[in-house]
Amino acid sequence: MGIVVQKFGGTSVADCEKILSAARKAIRAHQNGDQVVVVVSAMGHNTDHLIELASQISESPPAREMDVLLSTGEQVSVALMAMAIDSLGYSAVSLTGGQIGIRTDSSHTKARIRSISTDRVRQLLDAGKIVIAAGFQGIDEDFNITTLGRGGSDTTAVALAAVLQADACEIYTDVDGVYTTDPRVLPEARLTRQVSYDEMLELASLGAGVMHSRSIEFGKKFGVPIHVRNSQADVAGSLIVNDPEAPDQAVSGAAVTRDEARISLLALPDVPGICQQIFSPLDEQKITVDMIVQCPSAESMADISFTVPRHEMAATLRIVQPVVQALGGQMGDCSDSVSKVSVVGLGMAHQVGVASRMFTALARADINLQMITTSEIKISVLVDRSQALRALRAVHDEFQLHRTPDHAVTDPFVRLGQFKSSATPVDVVSRLRGVELEGLTIDDIVLDESQATVTLLRLPNRPGVAARVFAELADKNIFADLIVQTWSNIDRSDLTLSIPREQIALAQPIVENLASEFQCSGMRVMPKIAKLTVSGIGLRSHTGMASGIFQALHDANINLEMISTSEVRINVVVNTSDGAKALEYLNARFRNTIR
Ligand code: ASP
Ligand code: MG
Repeated sequence: MGIVVQKFGGTSVADCEKILSAARKAIRAHQNGDQVVVVVSAMGHNTDHLIELASQISESPPAREMDVLLSTGEQVSVALMAMAIDSLGYSAVSLTGGQIGIRTDSSHTKARIRSISTDRVRQLLDAGKIVIAAGFQGIDEDFNITTLGRGGSDTTAVALAAVLQADACEIYTDVDGVYTTDPRVLPEARLTRQVSYDEMLELASLGAGVMHSRSIEFGKKFGVPIHVRNSQADVAGSLIVNDPEAPDQAVSGAAVTRDEARISLLALPDVPGICQQIFSPLDEQKITVDMIVQCPSAESMADISFTVPRHEMAATLRIVQPVVQALGGQMGDCSDSVSKVSVVGLGMAHQVGVASRMFTALARADINLQMITTSEIKISVLVDRSQALRALRAVHDEFQLHRTPDHAVTDPFVRLGQFKSSATPVDVVSRLRGVELEGLTIDDIVLDESQATVTLLRLPNRPGVAARVFAELADKNIFADLIVQTWSNIDRSDLTLSIPREQIALAQPIVENLASEFQCSGMRVMPKIAKLTVSGIGLRSHTGMASGIFQALHDANINLEMISTSEVRINVVVNTSDGAKALEYLNARFRNTIR
């Protein structure tokens, strides 16, 4: 006998008929001999209605009272679900977050889970009951009701599955599973059978944003297999686990983030501490900085570009402008009508030419790449918002994402059983002991001294340029690891890539030719660099991460040559002589967060 957690989202409990149908699913699992925990969201759009009600009373309702209000949505659902199961002749007990013992911090409306006690749930399960748990809520140290942020019931479900060491966590929703891209945006999107945690994390919006991304962080951290499926249709759904759908597939998904703003800062002094001075105040104001890029510069001046959510552009400018002025830099051309298009795939980490294919497809669609940033498994480009959809379609087509890949897992669900033992209890228990469940986790800090960088300074800012550069490199089998393009101004931008040191002789003449063909202001080769990669879980949702890294390197008095960020990794490049010291400072800073 195992434990199964089933979560039903708002649309899956939108009316009484649907609640009864969900109840039958839970009963079926119970009849199969499993112990069943059901996590439910508020019915239909109930949470929206509650928010609307609050806004009619007050323009700025106290966050604590918002949580008291919002948590009622889930309380209605658990009660009705328990009644439904009772009416069908089985025994169920509903529990609120507080009754379960889901402890959170006190950041109302966006609380993080600290710990969950399992005693009461286990007792009830052992007594043969189906336990109905309210999603999205918890209590803080002082017994105040808290909520986890919109969509947080997924996180409740996966967290419960983790602490109960459940065999599976089934997420019932109104779509069939995880798609290669949001099917509401691109109808040709394909339902995947399996996707990896890392891919899901890098593309939080993958497949219609079916899952709250903090729930994926939980899944990865504690090895919970997550099975996303449609509550209304009998479709196999998608599994979110460690491994991707097809091991050799370069790209497995694509996504667009429509509403971004691009901020560019020019001619900053290229000395230690600049990034920290820029990003700490943004972090203090809880502004989520997304892409951050910097290329090794010429003439001891650095340009830095980054993106923030569109609605935070004004606030960002207010904070950044005076800092830039004080540093003697200039504001570059900023825009609030840009979108980010990304592709993700575990397979790209070892394949040459993936970037080249993506950039060529975008060039064919006559789309200019305003900024580029990559991680091992993701490439993101910034484009004009009016071209976002076309860009997404171009890359989805290029990588044939509408087709089932060769060597795809055939029936991942047959293997569900195999996941049961993948996280041994000892493992999970020791990982749970004394840690904050949703705390930032650093997996690794790695120093790589095997690479070199090449920078093209002031490349023309028009469609097809990056495509040309990467086509030529791919042609010679040169493996570009990190790729970064900053936005300098309307006409020109800098492009840097890191490559294996031994390929520098091969790359240099190609890049020289390109520099003269494109009338660049110059090129710069750093034959020996030190690349430091901090990877972990929660880097993005814990907003201070990038600025923590910048702070540590500032303390070490180390100058940053290049920066590239993604959801699960932050890469910085420093001078090779600084590598060991940088590693030491980063290790010291993040010692307590390392697994
Ligand atoms: N009811 C909450 C919301 O609508 C939580 C959830 O559905 O996951 O955001
Ligand atoms: Mg939801």
